[in-house]
Amino acid sequence: MINHFILALAFAAEKHQHQRRKDAKITPYINHPIALVNVLVNEGGVLSWDVLCAALLHDVIEDTETTEKELVEHFGKKIAAIVMELTDDKALPKEERKLRQVQHAPAASHEAKLVKLADKICNLRDILTNPPSGWDLPRKQEYFAWSYAVVAGVRGTNSKLEKVFDVIMQEGQVYFSKGGVHG
Ligand code: NDP
Ligand code: ZN
Repeated sequence: MINHFILALAFAAEKHQHQRRKDAKITPYINHPIALVNVLVNEGGVLSWDVLCAALLHDVIEDTETTEKELVEHFGKKIAAIVMELTDDKALPKEERKLRQVQHAPAASHEAKLVKLADKICNLRDILTNPPSGWDLPRKQEYFAWSYAVVAGVRGTNSKLEKVFDVIMQEGQVYFSKGGVHG
């Protein structure tokens, strides 16, 4: 519902207020969850309020002090459960977390798969246009390869978003083949 959506937007903005993305422009963090919603609605045709709320909230557990209980209280069990599906276990080493995302993607709910697709689309776009500071070409390429492996596990979820993802992968191939130059 629209009221949950606006509440989720305000909640995520507040929770992420002191965070920035890793790019050189130190973009406000909230731009990223908003970018996911933009991709879901305007590129994927996704109009499920539960999915759009989960997209706004997808990084609050992982990256802020927010608890699952808070999400249940504010947004109900369904949205909280989708966000929990999208949350990596920070107690695990990074390599293990990355492996788990690949392994667990096929068993995720339809709603979580949609958010995962949008998250990978947005992060790959950022890597091509607004990358984390200090990332060299092999690191960017590694992230593309890992994203490809995660998305392989969610195919059959939304053909429009999967096409958008494939176009970015192709743009990545061109970018990497030119040694990190656009065009
Ligand atoms: P991450 O892979 O976690 O960093 C990428 C994440 O940062 C994204 O998933 C995204 O997560 C977030 N992010 C923030 N700003 C941006 C942006 N501008 N563009 C794209 N993503 C952004 O990096 P870590 O530092 O945590 O390292 C994880 C892995 O990287 C390690 O397991 C290791 O394998 C590898 N690594 C490789 C190195 C190398 O030189 N090759 C060196 C060090 C690590 P979200 O959507 O959640 O915000
Ligand atoms: Zn994200």
